[in-house]
This record gives sequence, C-alpha cells and structure tokens, in this order.
Amino acid sequence: MMQEFTYKSTPAHVLFGTGTLARLPEVVSELGGTRALLLSTPAQSSQVRALGGLLGNLPVAYFHEATLHTPVEITERAMRQVHEHRIDIVVALGGGSTIGLGKAIGLRTDIAQIAIPTTYAGSEMTPIIGQSANGIKTTQRTIQVLPRAVIYDVELTLSLPPSLSGTSGINAIAHAVEGLYARDTNPVMQLMAEEGIRAIAQALPGIAQDPGDRQARADALYGAWLCGMVLGNVGMALHHKLCHTVGGSFNLPHAETHAIILPHALAYNALAVPDAIARLARALNEADPVNALFDLARSVGAPAALRDLGMAEAGVEQAVDEVLRNPYWNPRPLDRSALAALLKRAWAGERPRI
Ligand code: NAD
Repeated sequence: MMQEFTYKSTPAHVLFGTGTLARLPEVVSELGGTRALLLSTPAQSSQVRALGGLLGNLPVAYFHEATLHTPVEITERAMRQVHEHRIDIVVALGGGSTIGLGKAIGLRTDIAQIAIPTTYAGSEMTPIIGQSANGIKTTQRTIQVLPRAVIYDVELTLSLPPSLSGTSGINAIAHAVEGLYARDTNPVMQLMAEEGIRAIAQALPGIAQDPGDRQARADALYGAWLCGMVLGNVGMALHHKLCHTVGGSFNLPHAETHAIILPHALAYNALAVPDAIARLARALNEADPVNALFDLARSVGAPAALRDLGMAEAGVEQAVDEVLRNPYWNPRPLDRSALAALLKRAWAGERPRI
C-alpha cells in the first residue's frame, strides 16, 4: 500500500567505532572549543577524568553531579562552573542523565555540546530535554539542545553492568517500536527502526552471557544509535506516555520501567498496526513479536513486574487517570478499562495479552 509521508531530519555528526574517543580533540577543535566542561555522574567520574588527559593543554573543568531527571538545582550548580571557567564547549560522557545535563546547559547558553554515550538510551540523537523542578518533570523539544557531535566508542560500554545493558537495550528498542507506527513516521525512520531493533535484539543475549563481548557490544551500540535517531525524529505514543507517567509519578527507574511496559503497550496496539507488527516479526525473527519482546526481557534478566520496582497496586488507577487526562496520540483509541487491564498485568508481571 502506498504510504504518504513528510520527511524531515535533525542534523547529525556521528563518529562510531572502537577507540573513537581518541578523536575527541579533533571534534573539540572543529567546533571551536577552547575551554571545556566535562560532565559525568559521580559513578563515572574516573571515566570522564581520563578525557582531560586526552585534551592535552586545553583548559578543562569537571562537574560530576549529573543525575536522573535533570533537576534544575543541579543544572544551576553546573552553570556556575560554566560562568566561572568561561566554558565554550561541553562534553557529556555517560547515559541519558549526563547527556540531559549537557542539554540543559545548551538550552541556557547555546554552548555546543559533544555527547559520548555509554548506555543505549539514545538521548544523544534527540532534540528533546526533560527537566525536573519541585518533583515535576517537564519535557520540551528544541534543536538548541541537540548535541553538535556524538562520539560512540564501544570500549566505553564494556563496563555497563549486565542488568542495565539489558534494560537499556530494551529502552532503545521501545523508541524504534513506537517509531514504526508513529503518526508522523516515514520510510527512512522505519528502515532505521527495523535495523536498530534487529541489531539490539540479536546482541543482548550475547551481552548477558558475556558483558565483555565486543562484537555484541558494537552491535548493540549501533542499534542504539539507530533507535535514538528514530526517537529524535518522530513522535512517540502510548508506550512512552505510560513510562513517563508511571516513571515520573512513582519515581521508578527509567530503563527497567521501559523493559516491563513495552510488550504490554505493544499488545495493546498490535491489532491496529499490522505493518509495524510484520516489520517487528522480521526484525526479531519471531512470528509473535509481542511475546518475543516479553521473552527477550526475561532472557536478559530484566524485572517483569512494576510491583518489583516498588509501585503500589493503587498506582494503576492513578496512572490510567493521568494518561487519559493528558494523552499522547496513539494508533488505537485509549480505553480506560483496557488500559487498566494492561497496567495491571505489567504491575503483576504477567504475560502481555493482545
Ligand atoms: P543513566 O544515565 O541514569 O545511567 C544510569 C547509571 O549507570 C548511572 O549511574 C551511570 O553513571 C551509570 N553508567 C552509565 N553508563 C555506564 C557505563 N558504560 N559503565 C558504568 N556505568 C555506567 O541511565 P539512562 O537510562 O541512560 O538515562 C536515563 C535518563 O535519560 C532519564 O532521565 C531519561 O528520562 C533520560 N532520557 C532522555 C532522552 C531524551 O531524548 N531526552 C532519551 C532517553 C533517556
């Protein structure tokens, strides 16, 4: 069937490989950086400190307080460093939390950011920023926060713990799944989505067995790049709305929440999106992609139940209210009782039901 579409794409400058980090000085110089702020979480401070040595005589400052949900008070502390050291380039090494802090600085200053992702979350490829203030997270889309260059170095992902590797990989797959049936999807994003899902789904079991498997790590990171492109270029639907809602309301961990909800959200939409299901079946090499995603999550050790993340059962109705109060577009209309049944199954860790 002919597909009508509009194609627009964000600009991208991507370096991908092993040992790619060595090219950081070249990228900093291309972007005209003369004084760099290097960002990380506390856990990755030693990884980011190694970058200082790479940059030779370039003056650098460090900020190691990046954390989940980009709280504005942390960004304000980082901004003091930006002013004090007259920073003109920001380098964020880490997952979505650290890259989010780089984006928050970009939003306030227009200073160019270089992202060096070490998880599969995909934030580096998107013009989206979420920030939290007084416990409320708000998200906006502006090209100002898009990193000007992204360095993917497979070596940096070897230390990503096996459990987070699995859930982060499924987080990436979730972007591509929703990209397949997005209201504004297009053939280029569908190609990227299918290839991204294929690469990650094939790689994750290998990483679970041997986190040091460089080929599997390279495949997963390649897939994460593609899935991040999809997230950055087309709109998301019910799955992302559910994750933002339960994640935000009950302070649940990001990647684990995605891994639990994805098969259930896909089951909800499956009959409304036959073309996406066919592509998914091809990408996963499974006739039943809904159950295949549920099984993939089990095989990489992801938690199965929202209750295991600490969500109370009463949260199910509360989350459904919130999803219906402020819905995203979705290929199947939102139905209160079907949504409650979906979330109840995800809460209890049951198999998804179409
Ligand atoms: P994260 O960045 O919070 O990282 C989780 C933990 O793992 C941190 O302690 C981090 O330091 C550590 N870690 C990361 N990579 C590591 C590595 N290679 N080795 C050892 N430790 C490592 O987790 P995340 O899932 O990547 O990001 C989640 C956050 O990103 C959420 O706030 C989410 O909303 C945001 N996000 C935003 C977008 C967007 O487009 N704006 C996209 C995806 C995620």
